[in-house]
Amino acid sequence: MRPTVIAGNWKMHHGPSATRHFFRRFSPELSDPKPTILIFPAAVSLAAAVDARPPRPEVALGAQNIHWEPKGAYTGELSAAMAREAGARYALVGHSERRHVFGETDDDVRRKVGAALGEGLRPVVCVGETLEERQAGLVERVIVRQLDAALEGLPGGDFRFLLAYEPVWAIGTGETATPDDAAAAHRTLRGRMEERMGPDPAAAVPILYGGSVQPSNVAELLGAPDVDGVLVGGASLDPATFGRIAEAA
Ligand code: 13P
Repeated sequence: MRPTVIAGNWKMHHGPSATRHFFRRFSPELSDPKPTILIFPAAVSLAAAVDARPPRPEVALGAQNIHWEPKGAYTGELSAAMAREAGARYALVGHSERRHVFGETDDDVRRKVGAALGEGLRPVVCVGETLEERQAGLVERVIVRQLDAALEGLPGGDFRFLLAYEPVWAIGTGETATPDDAAAAHRTLRGRMEERMGPDPAAAVPILYGGSVQPSNVAELLGAPDVDGVLVGGASLDPATFGRIAEAA
């Protein structure tokens, strides 16, 4: 019942002309049922992505980050309404680089989830433990804390969000969680959502895995229980490589 979701987070890569170039070459051959393909370009490239993306209903765009306020004196920030007006339908919230490089807190994440939903953007809430936390046996505790904080204040039956489990130690490192590790974390997240929301809403939320996903490992990750899709960084920048990942779905 959950769609497979193949998402590409371009981070600070691909300005407008590289974005157009990408979409001219991105034409994966998808079998039915088609996965949902999400691309998160840099904010400055959203307009180019809207112009250049293929007219395929399964492809949608998102913002990499939003602010929780609708407008105001927040130099350099982007509101959910602005992102939506620019063509985004999704927003990454709480990506580990936002948390660990830019000091975003669980409370910031909660406010951004509310802002996204309030403007009709579907948040993709990212959670994940650091290597130190994993070595200390804290994986479940950390990801449940991040999940609880993100969903605090959300009406119990609201399942318009997606989750992404991205272990920090697997991002951009070439180290991928094993399918068993990913499945265990996803099972923990699903179980916690069931406790919070009840089984049916919890069953509707796609949980993506992110961290060094490649064409060579995507099939086994997608084959793991409760892994409903992938959130791809580096390997989403090249249209042929990302196309192969989408085709594997
Ligand atoms: P990599 O695929 O480059 O490890 O990045 C993962 C990620 O952070 C996606 O949001």
